[in-house]
Amino acid sequence: MPEQNGSNELLIRQAHVLDPSTGLDGIMDVRLSSGHIAEVGDGLRGPRELDADGLHLFPGFVDVHAHWRTPGREDEEDIQSGSAAAAAGGFTGVVLMPNTAPIVDRPVMVSGLVRRVERESRVRAHVSAALHVGLAGERLTEMRLLKQAGAFCVSDDGLGTASAGVLRNGMLYARSAGLPVILHCEDHTLATGVVHDGVAASLAGLPGSPASAEDAATATALILAAETGAKVHITHVSTALSAALVGFFQDRAAVTADTTPHHLTLTEDLVSTLDGLYSVNPPLRPGSDRGGVERALRDGVLDFVATDHAPHASEEKELPIEEAAPGFLGHETAFATLYTDLVLSDRLSLSRLLEAMSCAPGRWVGGGGSLAVGAPADLTLVDLSEEWTVGRDTLVSRSSNSPYLGRTLKGRVVGTIVGGEPVHDRTGAKFGVHA
Ligand SMILES: [Zn+2]
Ligand SMILES: [Zn+2]
Repeated sequence: MPEQNGSNELLIRQAHVLDPSTGLDGIMDVRLSSGHIAEVGDGLRGPRELDADGLHLFPGFVDVHAHWRTPGREDEEDIQSGSAAAAAGGFTGVVLMPNTAPIVDRPVMVSGLVRRVERESRVRAHVSAALHVGLAGERLTEMRLLKQAGAFCVSDDGLGTASAGVLRNGMLYARSAGLPVILHCEDHTLATGVVHDGVAASLAGLPGSPASAEDAATATALILAAETGAKVHITHVSTALSAALVGFFQDRAAVTADTTPHHLTLTEDLVSTLDGLYSVNPPLRPGSDRGGVERALRDGVLDFVATDHAPHASEEKELPIEEAAPGFLGHETAFATLYTDLVLSDRLSLSRLLEAMSCAPGRWVGGGGSLAVGAPADLTLVDLSEEWTVGRDTLVSRSSNSPYLGRTLKGRVVGTIVGGEPVHDRTGAKFGVHA
């Protein structure tokens, strides 16, 4: 987290403030003091002012699914570069997944990582721990001790759970320990291919995994969530059927769900390139699934967007698609891709996008996602008119495996503020900090 400066005061003048959680929508001034939002109104004055005329001011984005590769693969990303990438994408809060090397499955690792992110991260970073020791789907981790050590939630992300019985026990224990469970739903007896089992895979001659690999696991997880009462979050929903299943259980279980920017904007057609860059799990789906997921996000069946930011070294991605490591960078392009592809084509309103990127995930992590007076001063400043092209030189992440390389997008994050302090600044020298 950034050091607090002496004055602890910043006045953002004449931004177009948009916050679905409070209903704010219009040109106004926002005064920040002591890390919180102190005042919203007209004609405010402050000792340190930022002229935001022409910019939009949103509650900071919150990403509940990120891989910063620490510990173990700092050649791909670390807390410094991952949090800089998050800040560059307008994210003020992030949940880190535990499938690092070694895996975060013991209290001492959780407490060590919590101390490190407090020192090294530019944004608020919540540490999650494994649900099962070694992500092996056999022995449950010591969740009560993990929580005492600072774990925010538990997840075996990267893998599905081997059996329903094991998952049910995990949910019961997580519930008694007071920890939410983030689930990557994948049935590995069905997911035997490398891409979605559809037309594109057939044409390319690639082994496919059927959509049922995700749908069957999602159905199991939802049934068990309803039965156990555990707080369950289903991440990276990528099929129309899984989204519909989430809708069925929305009022029957303590369940939330997200989908990713890439499953909302890309389809299996990219598989025809055979390029390892497009390997991702769950795989890119047909247009009918993309459309179903988009509808579910628009209708609020899918509560929010999470990026599954997954940096990989070039030698793991510059391979044929069947050999490449699955995963995409996500933090830096999330807002611009969704704004360009969904909002500008009138398929999603800007306020629904903000609800999905800021308000709902902010509520889920228990802070942020609101510009209400008294809330933490976690904000994102965006220039909706700026066009930019995604390139290796624009990326702050240590890796460059973005599926949007070369794409021209509209809407760019120009400033990110966490606890009243700028952590990313493309506004010039106005904040007096360097990005
Ligand atoms: Zn996953
Ligand atoms: Zn992941």
